[in-house]
Amino acid sequence: MADTEVDLLTIGAGGGAYPAAFRLAKAGARVVMVDPKGVMSGNCLYEGCVPSKAVRETAALYLDQEKFQHLGLPGRICPDYAAVVAHKDAVQNRRYAQHAAELAAVPDLRLIQGVARFIDAHTVQVHGERGDERFHCRHIIIASGSEVFVPPLPGAELALTSHDLYKPDPTLKNLPAHLVIIGGGYIGLETASFFAALGSQVTLLQKGGQVLQGMDPGMVDQLVPLLHPRIHLMMGVEVESLEATAAGKRIVHYRRDGMSAQIHADVVVLAVGRRPVLPEGLDGLGIVVDRHGISVGPDLRTRHPHIYACGDVNGRVPLFHAAVRQSLVAAHNILGGDVPMDYADFVNVPTTIFTLPAAASIGITPARAKAANIELVTGHYAFTEDSRAQILERMDGEIRLFFEPGSLRLVGAWVVGIDAGHLIGEIGMAIQGGLSAYDLARFADQHPMSAEGIGKAARSLF
Ligand code: ADP
Repeated sequence: MADTEVDLLTIGAGGGAYPAAFRLAKAGARVVMVDPKGVMSGNCLYEGCVPSKAVRETAALYLDQEKFQHLGLPGRICPDYAAVVAHKDAVQNRRYAQHAAELAAVPDLRLIQGVARFIDAHTVQVHGERGDERFHCRHIIIASGSEVFVPPLPGAELALTSHDLYKPDPTLKNLPAHLVIIGGGYIGLETASFFAALGSQVTLLQKGGQVLQGMDPGMVDQLVPLLHPRIHLMMGVEVESLEATAAGKRIVHYRRDGMSAQIHADVVVLAVGRRPVLPEGLDGLGIVVDRHGISVGPDLRTRHPHIYACGDVNGRVPLFHAAVRQSLVAAHNILGGDVPMDYADFVNVPTTIFTLPAAASIGITPARAKAANIELVTGHYAFTEDSRAQILERMDGEIRLFFEPGSLRLVGAWVVGIDAGHLIGEIGMAIQGGLSAYDLARFADQHPMSAEGIGKAARSLF
């Protein structure tokens, strides 16, 4: 049987894939998406951003309730983790239904539940619901994402991962009394925050001397002391193996300062990173892959001008919103005849660590500036003076804005504390718009909202 001709095939149907698929379908192209999940949104909705934040926001409600008991609220309602999980699952179902409706509204756009593999640079074979199908593709977007990395640690299978915690109908449905988390990246630290807020004792084991490696150390130093007191951070820990006890508990064996030791836990979560998922058959195409993923520049093209790699699979900025933007860049470049007419910005992407409280950053922060030998001028605003923070008794943390000397153009920022994830978005828009401290200083930020701090941080320079 002849191969089916398509204009675009996306390998995956997550954030790196479906925005381009919709864009091209709207322009009249024949588009097919392939994903083993058979639904759009990839791992973000399945086991990532959305379900983890559904847990976070409910955990935050419990924290607030504890804080405002003096207002005459009833005694602390004991968190019901099974109910939290049910809420998370309901949110996921709601969003899956929304995505199904979006897809149904574009009749010519097909999503095949299946796995794609390359036959050659223009041919993709799909093993799916209707057996095997072959497509001859004018353009291909590889958006196969990333998966949890499980290191070859004896007993690793005794630990849960973020996949087990956040997937629909997750493995963990009861609140563990003592949770041990291996890994102090953003997933480990966020998970630690949620469970501590819900009432678990959490011990987080980190190999190096700093959690959130790769994030600005100034921001991390602000955040760490604000983490919930039920979180115990242990640095310089090299985990060696995991063991199960007859009672179904876990023992983590580790080395620290040259000594062997062990720690007991009800549940262990392994959060030591993610790695790109590469479709089969890629090897034969001469596409460059390093340990972060498929190598692409800001035009998202691989060394084959008609093959693009967007999202986690390229390892540039492994965040859903970055994948969405990259997907649209690829779509624009496809529409431009594979001659770049759009470029992704890998630096100015807002990044939030959704701990409680959160920390967020964007652009050029002092650590990046130092590495690049760039000077910065810093504007400050402490939440101790913020009216909204005072109202909600969340006065910890601050906003720091970083400007280019001379022009005072905004080039970066970090925020630790109240509304960090919201504020970094507004700051990001200002960076993208090329605004300076003068522009920010003369904008009437709304009172009494935390965004007032953006203008005030700019005005701290004058
Ligand atoms: P991104 O946000 O970077 O697009 P995600 O991880 O959210 O990444 O989504 C990637 C999707 O690609 C996942 O749903 C994954 O199951 C799917 N996928 C991985 N490998 C293949 C493959 N060979 N064929 C089709 N889909 C794949």
